[in-house]
Amino acid sequence: AFDFKSCLKRNWLLIATIVSVLLGIGLGVLVREYASLSQLHKYYFGFPGELLMRMLKLVILPLIISSMITGVAALDSEISGRIGLRAVIYYLSTTVIAVILGIALVMTIKPGVSQSADSIDRTGSTPDVSTVDAMLDLVRNMFPENLVQACFQQYKTKRKEIEVTKSEGNSTMTVTAVMTTIPQENKTVDYKVVGLYSDGTNVLGLIVFCLVFGLVIGKMGEKGRILVEFFDALNEATMKIVQIIMCYMPVGILFLIAAKIIEVEDWDIFRKLGLYMVTVLSGLAIHSMVCLPVIYFAFVRKNPFTFAWGMVQALVTALMISSSSATLPVTFRCAEENNRIDKRITRFVLPVGATINMDGTALYEAVAAIFIAQLNDYTLDVGQIVTISITATAASIGAAGVPNAGLVTMVIVLTAVGLPANDVTLIVAVDWLLDRFRTMINVLGDAYGAGIVQKLSKKELERMDLTSDVDVVNPF
Ligand code: ASP
Repeated sequence: AFDFKSCLKRNWLLIATIVSVLLGIGLGVLVREYASLSQLHKYYFGFPGELLMRMLKLVILPLIISSMITGVAALDSEISGRIGLRAVIYYLSTTVIAVILGIALVMTIKPGVSQSADSIDRTGSTPDVSTVDAMLDLVRNMFPENLVQACFQQYKTKRKEIEVTKSEGNSTMTVTAVMTTIPQENKTVDYKVVGLYSDGTNVLGLIVFCLVFGLVIGKMGEKGRILVEFFDALNEATMKIVQIIMCYMPVGILFLIAAKIIEVEDWDIFRKLGLYMVTVLSGLAIHSMVCLPVIYFAFVRKNPFTFAWGMVQALVTALMISSSSATLPVTFRCAEENNRIDKRITRFVLPVGATINMDGTALYEAVAAIFIAQLNDYTLDVGQIVTISITATAASIGAAGVPNAGLVTMVIVLTAVGLPANDVTLIVAVDWLLDRFRTMINVLGDAYGAGIVQKLSKKELERMDLTSDVDVVNPF
């Protein structure tokens, strides 16, 4: 019989989170209607939400470092190579599927055609950022010059650069742009200057380092043990902290969403960009409810929707905070506890996935680029469409798992086919909403990936269980 009480007990956090989303929306709408808050009060209003973001971001660094190192060290290099290869094949193929789906939709729906382009403001001059520069920066990013600096600052390019800070309510986004001309002072430069980096940690660089470090200490035998043990303990401690943070989550989420609703100034823009948003959102819906589940089922032969339900807490979190990296702690918990994915897989596959596997972002970038082409009456030939698919894939890999990162890397796609890069300003206004949904799909894609890789690596994992004297979770 259905035991309501035990169901409630097991899912209290999820229930509380969903209730707080609804309450937050209600509160936001009410305050917006009936209380005219000053800018300052709006800012204070978002404070509990800001705290949640800070807490989640706080644990990203120890979590990524400890899980990557112990994850790789626990496997022997041959096995981790094979698992890594499977993960990369999954990441790339699902991303490409997402891009193709996006292109097919945007070419069918044509959200940018016949819409009078002048109803949307176009301002600013085209920044001179070449695709090659952006691609090189992606690679440079993998090899930070300084490990400590990589933890809190991005790779700084050798070329001229400018930092543009855009404050949006309680969050600030700093974009470091690679460019050959510096815009005049006093000009609003928000988003007109775009480059590869958003504020935060150079996660890609850290991951590459931790991967190598983990492999090396895993092979060092007795001497390496102490390090593996250290990072393993760090991992456990961090996950305990995550557990504490999650208790605060419903409160934080309530205020995050309410503050956002109060803060949005231009709801009218949604009408103007309606069809474009419908295209992106339907693409994301098809990808997450048809493509990914079919792929999962084909490999794992289990109900993909049960699996997705297990991830719901992480999905709601992603929707609320629009950052795959900051959602990572929750993704870990859902994948390991609800979906029972082996820790040797999650530790390795999830941090990498959160950084480079972004199906939602890739789909969005392809749609947005073609939308901008349609607005400009620019006919794309087959070669250019292929270029868009390739660059959208690259741009999604290069995007950091932080809010609005996809918007920033879109310059790669636009400049590759000669579209005005400053036209991203047209879609900035709705990005806060689309960003949430694409982040949710990014996280879902990572989770399905972990499930599939675990299934494909079953033999190796079982063999390891038999041959090694070490415990599966704790290598000792
Ligand atoms: N916010 C997204 C993420 O964290 C990246 C993007 O802007 O598309 O996954």
